[in-house]
Amino acid sequence: MADPYGFLKHSRAEAKKRPVSERLGDWDEVYLDVEPDVRDSQVRTQASRCMDCGVPFCHSGSAGCPLGNLIPEWNDLVRRGDWGQASERLHATNNFPEFTGRLCPAPCEAACVLSISHDAGGPVAIKRVEQTIADVSWEQGLVQPSQSQVVSGRRVAVVGSGPAGLAAAQQLTRAGHEVTVFERDDRLGGLLRYGIPEFKMEKKVLDRRLAQLRKEGTRFVTGCEVGVDLTVEELREKFDAVVLAVGALRGRDDTTTPGRELAGVHLAMEHLVPANRACEGDGAPSIDAAGKHVVIIGGGDTGADCYGTAARQGAASVLQLDQYPMPPSRRDDERSPWPVWPWVLRTYPAHEEAGERKFAVAVEKFVGDEDGHVRQIQLRKVRVERDASGRRVVVPTSEEVELLPADLVLLAIGFEGVEHMPLLDGLGIDLTSRGTVSCGSDWQTQAPGVFVCGDAHRGASLVVWAIAEGRSVANAVDRFLTGSSDLPAPVIPN
Ligand code: SF4
Repeated sequence: MADPYGFLKHSRAEAKKRPVSERLGDWDEVYLDVEPDVRDSQVRTQASRCMDCGVPFCHSGSAGCPLGNLIPEWNDLVRRGDWGQASERLHATNNFPEFTGRLCPAPCEAACVLSISHDAGGPVAIKRVEQTIADVSWEQGLVQPSQSQVVSGRRVAVVGSGPAGLAAAQQLTRAGHEVTVFERDDRLGGLLRYGIPEFKMEKKVLDRRLAQLRKEGTRFVTGCEVGVDLTVEELREKFDAVVLAVGALRGRDDTTTPGRELAGVHLAMEHLVPANRACEGDGAPSIDAAGKHVVIIGGGDTGADCYGTAARQGAASVLQLDQYPMPPSRRDDERSPWPVWPWVLRTYPAHEEAGERKFAVAVEKFVGDEDGHVRQIQLRKVRVERDASGRRVVVPTSEEVELLPADLVLLAIGFEGVEHMPLLDGLGIDLTSRGTVSCGSDWQTQAPGVFVCGDAHRGASLVVWAIAEGRSVANAVDRFLTGSSDLPAPVIPN
């Protein structure tokens, strides 16, 4: 039984970060390594703030955890120091809690009842508890390969090795199917490998989980573009079902601002991928921020990843721009006590390290030198409105313009869906107007026996949604292959 007064006795406390000067000198995760005894005691105190609500909004529903993580259960187990049971309950709903504990922006915390009132001291530090359970699980050898006791004799191809593909593969392997994951890159992990910087999640965290999947029997093929290196005919002949987990990596470009064609103006992923490859030992990055005035356009996660990466590369300055004003902390509707999600300005550790953010501004022009390289941006204050048709329009709010230095401009303004790939053409799959792959209520696409999950279906989204969709598609594929399934299906297709 949880302590219903725990939150009155203890304040919310985030994990401590390493000093900024130290962080900027390496690529390691930003959080301080704390002695396990001290860490465990701190996290048990944090878990004791959970009231074990009758209706735990953190746990599920439209605002809480898409995985249906059993948050009050494992909060109480951690409070009591039962890490073994906590690990079991956490892994019951989440294949990769060490990924979500590090990368998820925690809609569960925004939904926590304790976030309603500042007097309550803020939500339970659910994300910190989750990551600690996951880390303790690995430290204590509680994470072991779980081999299936049945062999179905059915073969499944999973195309893409990001979090959705890995979750689907692990679930289906454990259900007794012979699963092969195809990855077109040279290393596994998709965005987890080449999109997420080391300082947010060190790749050894990914690699140890991949080793577990291998031991369970999941097969992996890298450097293979399905639809090219393995033809669609071969794919269909060799596999009984196919799961598309190919992500939504087509970066949104700026097609209107004069000067976009200048050298030094790039999509965000053109910066992040080589930077992450450099951390893997692949040599100097092709786009390096060292000594440059870096301007990042876009205020989201990808922009923050560029921000921290540019700072570590030794940028002369880093400036992040957002067309939207600084967000409010509370909903406009005064009758709603709930905070806005994210309930305060979304700030990442990278924002403490260097640079500056500007809100309610837009670049009017990229200004180049005689060699055709960007050297400045022309900036104006704006507000974002909707026109009569509901289209988003950006309206200037000032006559004044500002000229700021810019040697490297990174466009982090979102993703437009699935990249063009011969595989989809070969399977006869059309993309939706959002650039995604649609499916029926059974996750099956217009191509029979071909299923879709993760960003390829949902559009660019959170790692927790990718895992939730990967688990759900596994249930659908298992049902397709055997007529029924005991695998969990936490979400339905949107
Ligand atoms: Fe605990 Fe918050 Fe969930 Fe309530 S909503 S059960 S206090 S984590």
